[in-house]
Amino acid sequence: MTKAHWSYPLYRLAWSGLDWLFPPNCGGCGKAGSRWCHECQEKVTTLVGSLCERCGRPNQAGGMCDECRSNPPKYHALRAWGTYDFPVRQAIIRLKYKRDMGLGDILAVPLANLAECLGWQLDLVTPVPSGAKRLKERGYNQVALIAYPFSLATGLKYSPRALKRIRETISQVGLSAVDRRENVRDAFVADPKLVRGKNILVLDDVSTTGSTLSACSDALLRAGANDVYALTVARALSHHGLQQV
Ligand SMILES: [Zn+2]
Ligand SMILES: [Zn+2]
Repeated sequence: MTKAHWSYPLYRLAWSGLDWLFPPNCGGCGKAGSRWCHECQEKVTTLVGSLCERCGRPNQAGGMCDECRSNPPKYHALRAWGTYDFPVRQAIIRLKYKRDMGLGDILAVPLANLAECLGWQLDLVTPVPSGAKRLKERGYNQVALIAYPFSLATGLKYSPRALKRIRETISQVGLSAVDRRENVRDAFVADPKLVRGKNILVLDDVSTTGSTLSACSDALLRAGANDVYALTVARALSHHGLQQV
């Protein structure tokens, strides 16, 4: 991993200036004073310990989990910062639905630290794209709001047009693992000019089964990418049920 882009301190300073002008509330607990308080930072359940080497879900046996053995994902590896619980869940929801855009800057920091620890050899980072309809409704892609400061923090090239969603997919909420795979299959295309021969990192806010990230990886590999890795802010584990995304 290369070092942070020269403009990253300025980017962070700009957010501090906005905080001074418009005092924020914590993205987790809502307490006034900062965009992310120390108490919430302490409460994050990080995903560490014995994980499946591919999908990153807890796996006592080490190596690859049964699910990855029977349905190998297209990405090389997927990892997440924390579990999809309080306070990370609240922060993601606020960023996605409440236009609390300063949280993109906040959530990029632990993700950049995680990427540094993982030591993957990467050339560029791209966010999972929104469909045109959702982009129009919401006005922004919440994942891009994390991926851009992440690129500044890590010094990786930011390439938001590497992937494109070519068909609208229904929400993955409530779908089974098989239906999720089917729902996102061939939903993405990648631009060969941007990705050929490159090692690519795909970023998303939440992963559950990893089917969206596997579909993105499939598109990138078909366009000639050398290898694809995936990082998400949160991971919804089996005790959460098949929710979100
Ligand atoms: Zn808090
Ligand atoms: Zn696995």
